[in-house]
Parts: sequence; structure tokens; C-alpha cells
Amino acid sequence: RTKEEIMKYSELHYERIDVEKNRKVMEGFVDRISGADSADEQISTILEANDTSREYQSYAAMASLNFSRDINDEKAKAEKDYYDSIGPDMQEIGDIFDKAINDSEFKNELSKEWGDTFLKQIEMGLKTFDPQIKDMLKQETELRNEYTTLTAGAKIQFEGKNYNLAGLGPFHSDQDRDVRKRSYEARFNWFSENADALDQIYDKLVKLRHKIAVTLGYENFIELGYMRMGRSDYGPNEVANFRKQIVDHVVPIVKKLQDKKKDILGLDHLYFYDGINFKEGDPKPKGTPEHLVKEAQAMYHELSKETGEFFDMMVNEELMDLVNRDGKRPGGFCTSFPKYDRPYIFSNFNGTDHDITVLTHEAGHAFQCYSSRNQPLLSYLWPTYEAAEIHSMSMEFFTWPWMEKFFKEDTERFKYKHVSGSLSFLPYGACVDHFQHWVYENPEATPKQRNEKWLELESMYLPTRDYDDIEFPKTGGIWQGQLHIYQMPFYYIDYTLAQTCAFQFWMRNEQDKEKAWSDYYRLCKAGGSLPFTELVELAGLELPFKDGCLESVVEHVSQWLDGIDPKEL
Ligand code: ZN
Repeated sequence: RTKEEIMKYSELHYERIDVEKNRKVMEGFVDRISGADSADEQISTILEANDTSREYQSYAAMASLNFSRDINDEKAKAEKDYYDSIGPDMQEIGDIFDKAINDSEFKNELSKEWGDTFLKQIEMGLKTFDPQIKDMLKQETELRNEYTTLTAGAKIQFEGKNYNLAGLGPFHSDQDRDVRKRSYEARFNWFSENADALDQIYDKLVKLRHKIAVTLGYENFIELGYMRMGRSDYGPNEVANFRKQIVDHVVPIVKKLQDKKKDILGLDHLYFYDGINFKEGDPKPKGTPEHLVKEAQAMYHELSKETGEFFDMMVNEELMDLVNRDGKRPGGFCTSFPKYDRPYIFSNFNGTDHDITVLTHEAGHAFQCYSSRNQPLLSYLWPTYEAAEIHSMSMEFFTWPWMEKFFKEDTERFKYKHVSGSLSFLPYGACVDHFQHWVYENPEATPKQRNEKWLELESMYLPTRDYDDIEFPKTGGIWQGQLHIYQMPFYYIDYTLAQTCAFQFWMRNEQDKEKAWSDYYRLCKAGGSLPFTELVELAGLELPFKDGCLESVVEHVSQWLDGIDPKEL
């Protein structure tokens, strides 16, 4: 297919990969790598093998996406189950191929061709797999799916109607305090009723991951978890130090923001359910989802030539499924089909301001993925997550000048909420990360001990949280609603590292738009060709781990917030 041809998502070819056929093809590549007389021969073999992997990854992504779009579609479920079931076999095949590259006598030449990130990725990948763990990986996928099925299938009665978890969201930020509280009670009743099931799933996941780690020769899951995340340039110590900086420099500012909010809302005390930022409620996007997409399209044309072309493609080829509906998996994400050089955006619009941030956020991911389509290697298409979130979170800020299109007279309110919300998120993000380190350091802990630990950490990172008389979160179980904890261990600090970088882009975009955008675009095009710390350097940003970086960033953000009187907005 020529890349210029317009094909809609629904018209893209999909099929089931046959494992044994694939194994034979890849074994052929392994023979060619092992028997190669020159680096050039290996280079062309690796590129050919990449094409085979592009097919597999594209079909697997389509199967997963189609199921996320309708978890009640039996046919979609069967396709996803199929791809889930062959995952460990495919990993085994890839592992054999990677071993051949790792044993190559032409590593210097390969490094010259593609940089050394590729070889480092392979080295690390090899340490995360052994044929012995194949069955355990299958079990892990099944448990992850159990969590998805359970949470996506939630039917919650509220004011005489049934809602899923995302559908209940708008009531949490209703201007009527009573509605907010009761909607949270409804949410937490559901969690309370399903707490045992959710605990069991997690307990099994933790013990299983621990066993996988021990089988591979690690003390516990933490080191393995970091390698699965592809983190080659920092470890738990750097992350712990970063979390400490959040406690020292961000927690006090968030407390100040809370006091300011009390004043805005005219309340003596803030409870957990007082998440709104303005007395009249939070700003809402104006217009239907179709209208918002039209505005976004105009916005991306004005932002830059490359974003204009990109967004036209997303619209014309139907590469977005944005609005919440029954049977749709909760959350928002961006996926991609590398065989077709196309990304896809999935979200659950529910009429809140989050619809706009999720759109610009996921568009940031998708734009990066599309911009790095010319990277030679499949493994360079996406960077590691903490770097990927820079693209998405910074895009939320690069689109600021156009927010009026979506929020009209509420634009300044949206901006205030966006910045204060992004800053207030940092302690929560660190809390989720800290919790997971403790969990995997203590795999034998009981569900009750986990909840107690959560409460202890909450008092450190989120000291002003008060759940009033709502029982479930007071028992420490609120983390069960955080899907990353189940699905992707240690994927969370990434948001806080990236936010620290995104705030830097936000500041620089105010000073010099052109320079900020060209730095950002260069970062997008680099994809995953470098590890996190080097990507940050490439973008001309300060590394969040560096002492003083976070402090100076939040100082600027805090000053900006201080300069605004929300009552005047
Ligand atoms: Zn993201």
C-alpha cells in the first residue's frame, strides 16, 4: 500500500499470525544472522525481520483495540484471546533472534549504523525472558484481563440510571456537593462490593511476578520491573530521590493550593469529593464531540504544518474512537500499527474538561509515533514511557493558545485548573510509585497490610486528603481503581518525570514559541532511538533527577498560580 493512499481503519487488513510459520521465518533470519560474513548482511536481515515483527505487532494491536472498543463483542474477544495466547511464544521466538544479534561479531558496525540504544535494548530484553517463564507470562496476561473485564463491566446505579466507571465521572465534579459525594459513594460501593475479587487478582499478580523474577535469578520483581520498562539509565535510587524532592518541594505548595481552593469554593474544610476548582463547577468543553474534533483540526493546522497533516490523517482515516459508550473499556490510550505507519487514539469523552486534555494528550503520543515513522528500527518507533509522556503532556501545553476554541468564556478557568491539577498530580504519582516499590519488596504482604501501607503513604504524599465518612477509601483500598498498578507495574513515576519536563516546555513556549516547538518536534522524531536521559538532553531540557530541577520548575509554576486570582476568572 502506498502511504499516500487514504484507507480507513476499518479497511486495514487484519489476520491471525500463525506461530509455527512465524517461527520458521524467524529461524531463517537467525541462520542468516549467525552465518553472516559481513555487517551489511546482518543489517539487511535485521531490517527484514523488523518487517515481520511490524506485521505481528500491528495485528496484535488491532485485536486488542477492537476488544477495547467493545468488550461484549465475542468475535473481537476471540481475536484478542488468540493474540494474548500466542504472546509468550512470540516472545520466545523474538528472544532467539535477539540472542543471535547479541552474539554478533559485528556489534561495532551495528552500533555505527543505528547507535547503541538498539543493542542495549536487546541486552536488557534478554534479561527479562526465559522459556521457563512462558506459562507464568500467560497467567499474568489472564489476570490482567480479569481486571479489565471486571472494571469495564461495572454497572453502577446512580439517580435511577446505570453507569460505567467513566460514565459516573461527570458527577464527581458536579457543582452540587451532595451530588459529588453521593456519586463517589456509588463508585466506592462498587469497589467495596468487588474489593475481595480485586484483592485476589492483585495478590495473585504480585506473587506471580515475584516468582517470575526469582525464576530469572532476581531477588524480587523490582529490578525486573525496571527492565521491562526499558529503563537503562536510572534505577530505584534515582526514583526514590525524585520522590523525596516531591515531598519536600511540591507537597507544601499543594497544601497552599488547597487552602486557596477552600477560599474559592467558600468551604471551611475540603473533603476528597471537593475535587472541583470553581463554585459554579469546572469548565466544560462547549459543543458536541464532532464539533470539538473540527475545532481540534483547525487548531492543529494553525499550530504547525506537520501537526495539520497529522491530524487530517487521523480524521480522514478514522483513527480515533473518542466518546464513552456502554461496553467500552475505560481510560484513554494511543496505540499503533507499525506495518501501516499509523497511530490510533482511544478515549472516553464524558463531557468534562478532561475530554480536551485527553485529546491533546493522546494526540501528543500519536504525533510522536507518526513523526518517528522514518526511524529505521521498529524498536525506535516508541521511546520508553517516561519519555513518551513528555510528548503527550507537552502537547497539552503547546495547544494552550487555542483553548478558547473549546472553552470559550471558561478558557482562563480551564488553564488555572490544568496547571494546578498538573502540579497537584505529582504527589499522587509519587505515592502510587512508592506503594508499588513496597508491594514488590514485600510480596508476602496480605491485602490488609497493603491497604495499611497505602494509608501510611497517603499521609506522607497527600496529607490533606479527607474521605469524610466514606468507608471504602478509608480502609486504604482506593489504589484498586488505578489500573496501572495491575496492568503495568512501575508505570507511574513516568508521568511525574514527564510532567517536570512538560512544565519546562510550557515555560519555554511562553518565551520563544518557535524554538520550543522545534525542540519538541526534534524530540518527537527521535522516537525511541535514545534512552530517557539522552532524549531529555536532545530536547534541551533539564533532567528531572538533577537536584534543583524540580524545585526551580515548581517555583515558576507556583508563581504563575499565585499571580492569578481565581475569583476574578
Ligand atoms: Zn500518556
